[in-house]
Amino acid sequence: MRIMTDLVLETSNLTRFFGEKCAVYRLNLKVPKGVVYGFLGPNGAGKSTTLRMVVGCLRPTYGKIKVFGLNVFSDRVKVMEKLGYLPEKPVAYPYMTPMDFLVYMGRLSGLTRKEAVEKARELLDFVGLGRLAYSKVNTLSAGERQRLGFAQALINEPEFLVLDEPTSNLDPVGRFDILNKVRRLAEEKGLTVLISSHVIPEVERVSDYVGIINNGLLVVQGRISDLIAEEEDEYLLEVSDSKKLLERLRKEDYVIEVRARDHKSVYLKVDLNKSKALWLTLPKILAEEKLALYGFRPIGDPLERLFLRRLGVAR
Ligand code: ADP
Repeated sequence: MRIMTDLVLETSNLTRFFGEKCAVYRLNLKVPKGVVYGFLGPNGAGKSTTLRMVVGCLRPTYGKIKVFGLNVFSDRVKVMEKLGYLPEKPVAYPYMTPMDFLVYMGRLSGLTRKEAVEKARELLDFVGLGRLAYSKVNTLSAGERQRLGFAQALINEPEFLVLDEPTSNLDPVGRFDILNKVRRLAEEKGLTVLISSHVIPEVERVSDYVGIINNGLLVVQGRISDLIAEEEDEYLLEVSDSKKLLERLRKEDYVIEVRARDHKSVYLKVDLNKSKALWLTLPKILAEEKLALYGFRPIGDPLERLFLRRLGVAR
């Protein structure tokens, strides 16, 4: 396993006021190299404001932002070379075609005309806009413009990709497609991705890390697998004889609640502080009682529970 200690993004006490209104307060984001980091929060939480500061479009009221160890504002050019950004509402010149627009952006980022044309073609295919390469931007749908924005964010072959709600205008198939592409970029090209969303399953599907923001405050951040391991406490077990399993589990001190749903399935709630014992004793119980295990799955969505709990919506 790769140990990822290098931080691509590190903010310290990042804060932004709009007049009296505090949009982001003392944010300490840490995005390790090579991961997809899901930036999750309800509407108005401060996600876009944070991302706009991270890419150097908006000055913080106070606090620091380091991207690849560089200061986003004083080392702007060096940072820009490595950065791709899809804003919440992507813009492209309406009278241009997607092809012209991408070539133009490629030229701006230092590519020769030939390189820019090749890259634009490749990216239009990648984002699924190949057949619209020569239509005018003002004839594209919102979802197609978002795809164009995604291509534009990749034109300079960035090492760090910042995507602000990249799927908000897409239908379910489009969402699935773009998220798969984000995942592929991370896995195959080693890109680090910071992606904001208010849709929990989306973040869960694509990200390794998560940061949850609410009312401008970062309420939790970390590796998703670590965070949800602390949340997962309810399971459904399908076995050949639920009564036998029930009798044995009742005696275990990590069990908070256990009941049979029918003669083959058992609901189990464990004490999170003692739940390690479950993994040690369950195989033993199954073997001793000669029980066949047909299914074992957590109930509910641990990341959703974490999100709601940290937002104070659920216990
Ligand atoms: P999110 O992206 O999580 O939906 P935003 O970062 O867009 O949230 O907004 C955070 C808060 O800051 C909101 O209350 C929003 O109204 C406010 N805000 C954002 N931009 C501005 C601005 N330019 N002027 C005043 N208030 C703003």
